[in-house]
Amino acid sequence: MTEPQQVDVVVVGLGVGGEEVAGRLAEAGLDVVGVERGLVGGECPYWGCIPSKMMIRAANALAEARRVDGLAGSAEVRPDWAPVARRIREEATANWDDTAAVDRFTGKGGRFVRGTGRLAGPGRVAVDDQVFQARYGIVVGVGTRPSVPPVEGLAGTPYWTNRAAIEVAELPASLLVLGGGAIGLELAQVFARFGVRVTVVEASDRVLAVEEPEASEVAAAALRADGVEIHTGVRAKRVDHDEVAGFTLRADGGAGFTAERLLVVTGRRAHLDELGLDTVGLDAGQRYLPVDDRMRAGEGIWAVGDVTGEGAFTHIAMYQAEIVVRDLLDHVARQRGGPDASGTASAIGGAIGAAGAGGGSTPGPADSVPRADYRALPRVTFTDPEVGAVGLTERQARERGINVQVGFAPLSSSTRGWIHRVGDEGFIKLVADADRGVLVGATSVGPAGGEVLSALVVAVHAAVPVGRLRHMIYAYPTFHRAIRTALDDLS
Ligand SMILES: Cc1cc2nc3c(=O)[nH]c(=O)nc-3n(C[C@H](O)[C@H](O)[C@H](O)COP(=O)(O)OP(=O)(O)OC[C@H]3O[C@@H](n4cnc5c(N)ncnc54)[C@H](O)[C@@H]3O)c2cc1C
Repeated sequence: MTEPQQVDVVVVGLGVGGEEVAGRLAEAGLDVVGVERGLVGGECPYWGCIPSKMMIRAANALAEARRVDGLAGSAEVRPDWAPVARRIREEATANWDDTAAVDRFTGKGGRFVRGTGRLAGPGRVAVDDQVFQARYGIVVGVGTRPSVPPVEGLAGTPYWTNRAAIEVAELPASLLVLGGGAIGLELAQVFARFGVRVTVVEASDRVLAVEEPEASEVAAAALRADGVEIHTGVRAKRVDHDEVAGFTLRADGGAGFTAERLLVVTGRRAHLDELGLDTVGLDAGQRYLPVDDRMRAGEGIWAVGDVTGEGAFTHIAMYQAEIVVRDLLDHVARQRGGPDASGTASAIGGAIGAAGAGGGSTPGPADSVPRADYRALPRVTFTDPEVGAVGLTERQARERGINVQVGFAPLSSSTRGWIHRVGDEGFIKLVADADRGVLVGATSVGPAGGEVLSALVVAVHAAVPVGRLRHMIYAYPTFHRAIRTALDDLS
């Protein structure tokens, strides 16, 4: 090991959250070392959000073309995976090469180190034989990896996780998807629309089990209409594989499923055990790295993104990154300015004020640093129809003892749904706190479910009184006008 190199901040893991924090701190003039063992940008641009949404865009184009019959004549559809694979390889991922992202970071003044970072005592990070001593702080943004269930036989087989599914250049004839959550359903529908025989096996009694039951029903029906076989309440017991027969999955009750390929998408987990957390007095045996509302995990340690367990979404990582940047710059200003930190923001080029420009979190009580607030956390499953949701489900609200009122409006009986006809499945469901007269949760399922959700996110985030929402003007004939009908249904 070499002598420790003194730097201002070390960021371990340059995924969505870490890259944003490291770049912003470097731009603010700090001496930042960013450590990444894989690709700068992380899961989202290379194996997650972006390529999967490219796949969905293509699959939805096929579905729309198949809807021409009965609406606008006839269309013949011949799916071809080649342009999708090419677009992912060339446009989304540059053949899984992060040169542009590395240059972006170093162009902001950051120092990039390729390797695996490990905490090695207070303020210290080791990467291979280099050691960095951070004056102001360490940021952990190491993300998560697929959580693979301990099913007998599975470990020795060439099963897919999301990475292989995104990288696939030629589609298999058949695919078993183990896991009926958001990622499983999105990919299942894509592959089915391209002609793959897809079977989804889910242990819970419904797909999309974290969302409203009505959303699960609509999503399951839509996938079945695309030819996907869905089996819920089925626990995988054993997996076998051979080159000729492919995969066989045996379930607890004796049922068996076979396919050429098996995709395992049963959740994700942080790998804290390899981070050296014990060297700074933190517990490495947890599922996630807990943080306070300023993203502090411990003395001089911040965490950002999926590793915090607050929601595995890019928008959460970006939201948290904003808080980390502002809190860390505030910390630097206080350190540099001594006990009276007034006016010290200028010492780092007014970066605190600049960093605040994109904020949206709740301001902290004693300073300008925003505090994390997840009450209005939005999430979208990009199936067709899309399932958008914000805040609490009806069940979660009842479990919290809230005096719940529910409002429901099917999309197909809205004017726009009726006009849309084929592909108009969906609904708006509102969950209100009757005592406070505000929405605490909402679900928007439909062809533009994720977009319609934005109005509901504002309503939950800003606690807009239900009375005011009722007296808003909703453009006609939009899908979002169904919110008005659901408000009238609140009871
Ligand atoms: C198929 C799929 C689809 C998705 N779709 C969406 C979507 O539509 N919308 C959405 O909001 N979210 C989506 N997500 C989730 C989104 O990708 C994640 O929430 C996001 O990538 C989290 O960012 P992160 O910075 O926390 O972690 P990551 O992106 O996982 O990045 C962590 C980085 O840390 C690196 N690392 C780990 N350990 C070390 C170490 N010790 N030293 C150095 N480097 C290390 C890793 O190599 C990695 O690059 C999707 C995910 C998947 C898998």
